[in-house]
Amino acid sequence: MDQRKVKQTQFPLVDGHCDSIAAHLAGEWNITVGGGRLSLPMLRQAGVAVQFFACFVKGGGQQEPMLLRALELVEGCRSLIAENPADLCLLETAANLDKALATGQVAALLSVEGGGILGGKLFMLSLLHRLGVRSLGLTWNYANDLAGGVREPGGLTRFGRDVVREMNRLGMLVDVSHLSDPAFWDVLDTTGKPVIASHSCCRTLHDHPRNLNDEQIKALAGQGGVIGINFFTEFLTGGKAALGDVVRHVDHVCSLAGPDFVGLGSDFDGCESLPQGLEDASCLPALIEALLDRGYSEENTAKIAGGNFLRVIRQVLG
Ligand SMILES: [Zn+2]
Repeated sequence: MDQRKVKQTQFPLVDGHCDSIAAHLAGEWNITVGGGRLSLPMLRQAGVAVQFFACFVKGGGQQEPMLLRALELVEGCRSLIAENPADLCLLETAANLDKALATGQVAALLSVEGGGILGGKLFMLSLLHRLGVRSLGLTWNYANDLAGGVREPGGLTRFGRDVVREMNRLGMLVDVSHLSDPAFWDVLDTTGKPVIASHSCCRTLHDHPRNLNDEQIKALAGQGGVIGINFFTEFLTGGKAALGDVVRHVDHVCSLAGPDFVGLGSDFDGCESLPQGLEDASCLPALIEALLDRGYSEENTAKIAGGNFLRVIRQVLG
């Protein structure tokens, strides 16, 4: 058992989604110390190699305040990284990912959730890229000028298609979590690179529009992408959930597509209720242990813990 525990920390973990930066900047608690579901000490202790930090901008409203809010969050992340150089670095390229893996720093991947902030302008993407943003969720739950969301249907617009192609060109991850089903298929039809579902579960296990159906999972995997299983109990079971329910969703993706296309997307500090045994980022090693106990080989556990996300990040960011 002890031997296994030592090995756990050797699997570099990747968490595809958290909303912790907003609460930190609002002063609700300090991410460098603790108080929320995720903190720098927890990430270091759990062996997290890459943490996606979502800059979430709620859909609707006027474009300009949304853009300002996104920039406030991006700048907040950059300041946090600059102030904590021993613990954090900005993940911009495969090369600096390698460096972070070697030094043990947590590589912070900045993602924006909600493409409405682009204001219909493609140049905004290269500007965000220059600021270090490497992932964009095209929508939140509602439609914008890029695409339909899960609560407001619609496909990918002409501008949305241009955005996907430009993101491919710049080396940014296209995130399909929150998209409507038609928009999901349009993205897969348009992209020339693998896409991610940073925080999504399986609709076959719990019928919720935020979850992906089997055909979507197979298609996303068929293009080499990765699905980060969301820990939100509402998506896992619709009611109470335990750590084993995350394992069930991992199992389901593996049963459809094999072990190369699934990862973790906690949604820490962004969802209202978490599974028993997975209350915060310090519990991540227990999830890895549960995968090993479930019978996953060390090789496949390493892929699920982070290797699959690392593959897609390297491939897309270059
Ligand atoms: Zn989300």
